[in-house]
Amino acid sequence: MTSSTSDKKKKADSFEYEFGGPIGAFFTVTLLPIVVLLLSHWSKIGGLDAGFLADFRTESFWDAWLKSSVLCPSCSTSGDRANDLLLFRCAGGILCYFIFQVLLERWLPCELVQGMPVKGNPNHRLTYRINGHLAFWVTLLALDVGWPTWHESSQSYQFGRAPLAVLYDYHAELALVTILFCFALSFYLYTTSFQGQRILADGGNSGNPVYDFFLGRELNPRIGSFDWKEFCELRPGLIGWAILNLAFMAKQHENLGYVTGSMILINIFQFIYVWDGIYQEKAILSTMDITTDGFGYMLCFGDLAWVPFTYSIQARYLVNNDPHLSYAALAAIVATHIVGYATFRGANSQKDAFRKDPNHPNVVHLQFMKTKRGTKLLTSGWWGMARKINYTGDYIMGLSWCLVCGFDSIVPYFYAIYFAILLVHRAIRDDHACQEKYGEDWKEYKKKVPYMFIPGIV
Ligand code: NDP
Repeated sequence: MTSSTSDKKKKADSFEYEFGGPIGAFFTVTLLPIVVLLLSHWSKIGGLDAGFLADFRTESFWDAWLKSSVLCPSCSTSGDRANDLLLFRCAGGILCYFIFQVLLERWLPCELVQGMPVKGNPNHRLTYRINGHLAFWVTLLALDVGWPTWHESSQSYQFGRAPLAVLYDYHAELALVTILFCFALSFYLYTTSFQGQRILADGGNSGNPVYDFFLGRELNPRIGSFDWKEFCELRPGLIGWAILNLAFMAKQHENLGYVTGSMILINIFQFIYVWDGIYQEKAILSTMDITTDGFGYMLCFGDLAWVPFTYSIQARYLVNNDPHLSYAALAAIVATHIVGYATFRGANSQKDAFRKDPNHPNVVHLQFMKTKRGTKLLTSGWWGMARKINYTGDYIMGLSWCLVCGFDSIVPYFYAIYFAILLVHRAIRDDHACQEKYGEDWKEYKKKVPYMFIPGIV
């Protein structure tokens, strides 16, 4: 073994791994795409079975690949060329959508905002183009009035509403090509992280290739001023989630001739959530995703494939499986959602406002703790109730999304189960990070605010 190989091995052995280390990373990378495809199938049939491969319109991806007229024009003998090329069309669609979002980020007017100091250099801050909110509305406008359709009669393109319902029909194929795209992008990010002088994320620089590919080596990969991580966190995936929900509503309307109460509610609830996230774009610059985590498969796949294709399963489920909830039940769910949203938005906004200006009239009355690190920790208001009260609000909202699907199937409740695991794990990670950042002050803070999620209980 050479000395550099043995150094690397020593580093990998002594590294403080998360997510189950390299083995956990390997299984997460390989199994989560299967979960996405399973959920696509299960949310369509409204139950659990093993037939998700049947959802693909082609015999298999590789058949489609081989028969494709792009690669082998003479191979396609079925006459059903459109079907053979389906995965390529889906890949083309996803790529065009991604490029469209990049162009909006580049060309739309923006506010230039400085991020947090970059790791290891308190005087260095990256500049971000904040225009996600405008990109969101431009995308929706383009889908509503700007979709080009070829008209044989006039031999010209006419512009109108996009045929969104087709996204329901080809959901599994679109999910598959998006997953492949995530693999390709993560591979590109991993390999480029070795070129030149890059700032690496502490957590994604273990020396183990599987783990580093998963967690992300480079902290802020960029091409010029284009920031891959900030762009992917908020735009293609989140906007895509809202578009998929609208597509499922269009499909239900196509099937039934009307739209059900549950479908309207899930669209409103999740539209608000997506809009809120994008409207508050600047707030993500101080989150651990941007300041601490590298940009690798975990965030890439999470942002681009997991969020749009699994967070939209309730609306997809409702297309064929509406539970016909009573007005009273729908009203109770709306009330639950309002409690969740008020807690989530109230807590997050209070912290943001306090961190920007502790003397602002809305937060000047709040109690806080000064820390040796220089920052102040709130100990009253929302943040005096529990240390992760914002997560609790988020969870209550997520639960209301599942409740609109009734109790006939467990499939829509996947989100509630998964989100509980995500938030508990994330809370533990953040607690650990704060312990590192604040030392004794964090222990003192935890004495003042002893509960994590629910005041007086947990
Ligand atoms: P938080 O918004 O909770 O931010 C945590 C940081 O805030 C800490 O590291 C600390 O950083 C600071 N902080 C902690 N306690 C206090 C306090 N009492 N007073 C002042 N500052 C404090 O975490 P996230 O970024 O994880 O979450 C943001 C939102 O995004 C949440 O509402 C969450 O539910 C949501 N979310 C949703 C996901 C989804 O998939 N739908 C995934 C992840 C998050 P410092 O002191 O260094 O500033």
